[in-house]
Amino acid sequence: MNMKEFSAQFPDEKACREYLELMIWPLGRVCPHCEGLKSWDISAEGRRSGLYECSTCGKQFTVTTKTPLHSTKLPLRTWLMAMYFMINSSKGISSVFLAKWIGTSQKTAWKVGHAVRAIMASQADAMLRLAGIVELDEKYLGGKPRYQKDVKHKRGRGTAKSCIFVAASRNGHVRAHVVANDSYSELAPQVNRFVDSRADLMSDQLQVYRKISEDYASHASVNHGSKEFVNGAVHNNTAESFNAILERAKQGVFHALSKRHLQRYVSEVVFRWNHREPAREISKNGIKKTIYKAKPILEQLRSLLRYAVGTQLRRSFVGGIFIPRPAFRL
Ligand SMILES: [Zn+2]
Repeated sequence: MNMKEFSAQFPDEKACREYLELMIWPLGRVCPHCEGLKSWDISAEGRRSGLYECSTCGKQFTVTTKTPLHSTKLPLRTWLMAMYFMINSSKGISSVFLAKWIGTSQKTAWKVGHAVRAIMASQADAMLRLAGIVELDEKYLGGKPRYQKDVKHKRGRGTAKSCIFVAASRNGHVRAHVVANDSYSELAPQVNRFVDSRADLMSDQLQVYRKISEDYASHASVNHGSKEFVNGAVHNNTAESFNAILERAKQGVFHALSKRHLQRYVSEVVFRWNHREPAREISKNGIKKTIYKAKPILEQLRSLLRYAVGTQLRRSFVGGIFIPRPAFRL
């Protein structure tokens, strides 16, 4: 889908609203205040279009009420355009570029970007837990990237870097969450949250995984120092490729990392990874590898918007989305 096709599909506010209603209420209108299923269209008589009144609680609502799209005064078309650009870019886009493309100030584009990322995060939260062979890994971000070949980065405690726990299923999906460090108390709840107990775990040699894996079907660990990673199916290559993408996103787009906003950036990378499909298989040195491509953009939009409801970012008292601005200039 290119920009021309986008314009044809979403020519005006009416088309955008109808599309959002179809995506957010696939089975009919639901009152966002009380979940009531009966409501009336009260948009007639000069009232704004898309306004409904719930016959259970009597409150009024639109398709964006209680979603991050609500009360920003931005046209719905601007929101859809932002989602389109964010989904369409293979590495993510900075708020400077987003602002140019959607025609807002950079400040607004920054908020819009984070609102979309927040929806991406709840999309991942609504996913089934990972099953099959699941690789567990930690990725350290932040600080200056160091390109020292064969030099092992200092791990966990003692580094200024942010630690991101990564669970990657061999059959495609990943989940990732910012954690304080790589201790048992930090990692165990995340493994629990993301991975089905029938899964076969693969991890590096971090001791805590041995304990965590007691509740799982099986566990194997990879010694990065040896050639063990080529040992049959025991490897962490999926998690490693995801980590490489995180690293690239960090250097390209969200290089000015703030721990406060990091999880939303990570969620964006996760969303992108989880919305790919196998394109073809290649064979390299006798090892088969699947090449993925991004799913069609409308399919991704549908997946995103289904989780818009209930994704409330903090509101400022003057209304609108409130996300604390970082101290640095973006
Ligand atoms: Zn209601």
